Amino acid sequence: MPEPLTYLDRKTAEPPLCTYPGCRNAPALGVQLCPRHRRKQNRRQAESARRLTAGRRRAGLCASPGCGAKSETYYCIACAISKGRLSTVAPDNTLDKQARLAARTKVDPTGRTRYHGQDRTGTPPASLRDAQDVAEMHRLLKMCGDGLVMARAAVGLSKVQLRAAFHAALAHGDRAARLFEDMATRYGYTQQMLVPDRDE
Ligand SMILES: [Zn+2]
Ligand SMILES: [Zn+2]
Repeated sequence: MPEPLTYLDRKTAEPPLCTYPGCRNAPALGVQLCPRHRRKQNRRQAESARRLTAGRRRAGLCASPGCGAKSETYYCIACAISKGRLSTVAPDNTLDKQARLAARTKVDPTGRTRYHGQDRTGTPPASLRDAQDVAEMHRLLKMCGDGLVMARAAVGLSKVQLRAAFHAALAHGDRAARLFEDMATRYGYTQQMLVPDRDE
C-alpha cells in the first residue's frame, strides 16, 4: 500500500490536490481545499467561533473576540457602536437603501438594469463609483451620529468605557473622511479656503 500523501505533497502536486487527507478533488480557485472540504472547514470554523462566543457570554464578557470587557448585553457598548448594532436608536434606512441600490445598479444600452459585477467592461463608470462612495459615506456617517447618540445616552459607564464608546462612534466618521479623501484625490481636489460670501 502506498504511503498516504502529506499536506505538502498535495499542495505541491501537479496539478494540485485538495489538501484534505484522502481527497482526490482539485482545490477551488485561489484556495487549497476543494469546494466540499472548504465548506466543511468553514462550518467547523463557524462552529468553533460560536463556542468561543458562548463561552465569553457565560463568563459575563462582551461577545466580540478580543474585547474582554465585562458586559451585561451581548456586545459591550463600544463594540455595539463599532458594529453598528445601534438597537436603542430608531433606524432610518430609507435613504441609505436607495443610495445603495443606485450604487449597485446601472442601466445598460439595451435598457436593462445591470447589477455591479455583471458589467463586462470591468471598471465601474466614474458616476457609479461616486454613487457607491457617497452611499458608503452616508452609511458610515449615520453610524457615527447614531453611535454618538447611543454613547451619550448610556448610563453607568466608567470613564474608560465611555471614552471607548465615543471613539467607536468616531471611528465610523474617520472611515467616511478617508473615503472622501480618496474621492477628492480622484478629482484632484484639494481643500479650499472657505471665504465668506461677499455679494449680499
Ligand atoms: Zn477535498
Ligand atoms: Zn466589547
